[in-house]
Amino acid sequence: MYRTHTCGELRISDVNKTVTLSGWVDASRAFGPMTFVDLRDRYGITQVVFENNEDLNKQAMALGREFVVKVEGTVRERMAKNPNRATGDIEIVATELTVLNVSKTPPFTIKDETDGGDDIRMKYRYLDLRRGAVQKNLFFRSQVAIETRKYLAGQNFIEVETPNLIKSTPEGARDFVVPSRMNAGQFYALPQSPQTFKQLLMVSGFDKYFQIVKCFRDEDLRADRQPEFTQIDCEMSFVTQEDILNTFEGLTKHLFKTCLNIDLPDFPRMTYDEAMSLYGSDKPDVRFGMPFVELTDVAKGKGFPVFDGAELVVAINTERVASQYSNKTINELTEWVKRPQIGAKGLAYVKFEEDGSIKSPLSKFFTEEDFKTWADKCGAKKGDIIFILSGEAEKTRKQLSELRLELGNRLGLRNPSVFKPLWVVDFPLLEWDDDTQRFYAMHHPFTSPKRDQIASMLNGDHETMKNLRADAYDLVLNGVEIGGGSIRIYDRDLQSKNFKLLGMAEEEAESKFGFLLGAFEFGAPPHGGIAFGFDRLCAVMSGSNSIRDFIAFPKNNQGRDVMIDAPSFIEDSQLAELNIDVTVEKV
Ligand code: ASP
Repeated sequence: MYRTHTCGELRISDVNKTVTLSGWVDASRAFGPMTFVDLRDRYGITQVVFENNEDLNKQAMALGREFVVKVEGTVRERMAKNPNRATGDIEIVATELTVLNVSKTPPFTIKDETDGGDDIRMKYRYLDLRRGAVQKNLFFRSQVAIETRKYLAGQNFIEVETPNLIKSTPEGARDFVVPSRMNAGQFYALPQSPQTFKQLLMVSGFDKYFQIVKCFRDEDLRADRQPEFTQIDCEMSFVTQEDILNTFEGLTKHLFKTCLNIDLPDFPRMTYDEAMSLYGSDKPDVRFGMPFVELTDVAKGKGFPVFDGAELVVAINTERVASQYSNKTINELTEWVKRPQIGAKGLAYVKFEEDGSIKSPLSKFFTEEDFKTWADKCGAKKGDIIFILSGEAEKTRKQLSELRLELGNRLGLRNPSVFKPLWVVDFPLLEWDDDTQRFYAMHHPFTSPKRDQIASMLNGDHETMKNLRADAYDLVLNGVEIGGGSIRIYDRDLQSKNFKLLGMAEEEAESKFGFLLGAFEFGAPPHGGIAFGFDRLCAVMSGSNSIRDFIAFPKNNQGRDVMIDAPSFIEDSQLAELNIDVTVEKV
């Protein structure tokens, strides 16, 4: 027998019991004739004492860190208790020690506060995963998955697996492809999401589907993206947007309650247009205020060329910072918005000092009356600073949105243990791109316009298309998009029209999505759904902004798994079998 108890289990009430524990040597210390060994497993750490037995003591002294051992002994009350440890009241007086396996000295310490850098921990991920701080994240992830299943099963959802080897239909991101040996020259693609399959399941009559599912997107990896990630993917039939929002607001509340013991209030809703004009973002962080205030009408025409030539002049009020933000701080912020990632040309501001005076680099062009008008619009009081950006509307809003978040960070307004969910609804259906002169689907090509706009979509002109709104929604939590979905098109003609608007010729639409168009001819029910980014949901719920910490074996920024060293070259014989002729030189 390897163990009677785990290393996290024994308490004062177990004193005098004879027990057997197995685990890893976390640390060992010799104190004269005594040796103390901390034995660790997934459940905790228990102190083991070797004393009064020279042989045993010698064996214990020879133990190295991370040796796997089995210890038999008696539970005893500890003289010096450790209140920071659940087992801190007791220790095991060892009577027998078995080394189950030895270990090389690990390349970094297996402690919550480790000395290992990122790269080495990734290479030895299986050791990193031995650390309590990392294990905790995976236990949390598991709990969120289990509670998701419980909640959705309770609502009559069926979990269905959809295939991983599918057809390449790149739209949003690039597909990962897999060569087919049996069909020379042909490729499968890995799914970017099970979108079309879940819709087909609705056509089949499953009514409520979900799947906790891997998705694959071959994108250039921006910070905190993974080429394979997990979604909680869902679809429902005979539902309106309202039904979906309620069901998944319910799921989110259930997860917060069961996994964090937090009661979330009802989620506020905001239209896409409101979100853009108030926060310059379709995923605003509403843990703090600082809404945008447009000053275009009052700031233009006063002789300041920068504003006069701008499409939009827009401000945010930052409360109670006038005395704290010196010129140096403001210069720093100016440099911050001028970095290429943000791309603003400069940063204008008006400082309303506590003593009633007003300071601004713009005072050559504007009177105190002007500044007071701005202050009224912005709700600025003595002690506040308004920051102003101007230029082309869309870009300027984006820049100010970044500045707002940065100010929120600097002012400590983005507390990771405060949770503010928000539904953003009524997204545009299509997005016009000037460069390529075509429409793109704002969500994806299967999203339906709002019911009352179907006629305009079928018959309207170019301008009408730009203004179509969809029953498409995102769930935003603390400025992070954690879910998104839509009510779908379920009519062949409307779907064809959408493909056409997206620049797809009829034959192309038929060859890529003929199966779906065909299915719509056999009694497709009205349906809609949503998918949550599961890794990200776990991270945000834990107040972390790194999804990698919630994935057992993540890839690095180059999309590599440095532990198994993938991707890698394959044998020429494998390539030949796959009918692939690769001329890249192997290094
Ligand atoms: N399949 C969509 C996505 O991956 C989600 C949905 O519309 O349900 O974003």
